[in-house]
Amino acid sequence: MNFKDYIRVVPDFPQPGIRFKDITTLLKNGEAYRAAIDALRDMVKEKEIDLIAGPEARGFVIGAPLALALGVGFVPIRKSGKLPGDCIEASYSLEYGKDKLAMHRDAIQPGQKVLIADDLLATGGTIATSINLINQLGGEIVGASFLIELSYLNGREKLNGLDVVSLVTY
Ligand code: IMP
Repeated sequence: MNFKDYIRVVPDFPQPGIRFKDITTLLKNGEAYRAAIDALRDMVKEKEIDLIAGPEARGFVIGAPLALALGVGFVPIRKSGKLPGDCIEASYSLEYGKDKLAMHRDAIQPGQKVLIADDLLATGGTIATSINLINQLGGEIVGASFLIELSYLNGREKLNGLDVVSLVTY
């Protein structure tokens, strides 16, 4: 399946000059959504994985079905203030200012093997922050998987040789 056929590219969103990759057009097609998750599963199924961790919100849309397909658990990475239990946090820079991501302190047991999943790898800032959190909890990160990689933003280079798989590259 050519997944690009199902991804809508929206020019000048959220600001002029950005060509936004909109995956809602893929997600609403049951066949394409399933094929995408199956393909990602096949790319990582040889790895030993205990848990998938996905950043909100679109990391849930990819990470949770991928966890089900692999038969492993899912843990959410959320914006600060959303998770009810005891949390750890890590800051990351946005274009203007800073934001924080959080995970439950008991989400990962030390030594558990964790695959990160998100919809899209852009600059790598979100995943670098996710890595920071998982490392704080003692998780062993075995790779990161994405529906889409924007290779011209060189996010991969920020991830220090981490095994990165993506279905579609722009
Ligand atoms: P990064 O932190 O720069 O790698 O940005 C990745 C995050 O931004 C992902 O969680 C995406 O959901 C979001 N994002 C950035 N650009 C796009 C896009 O073109 N389409 C959809 N999401 C995007």
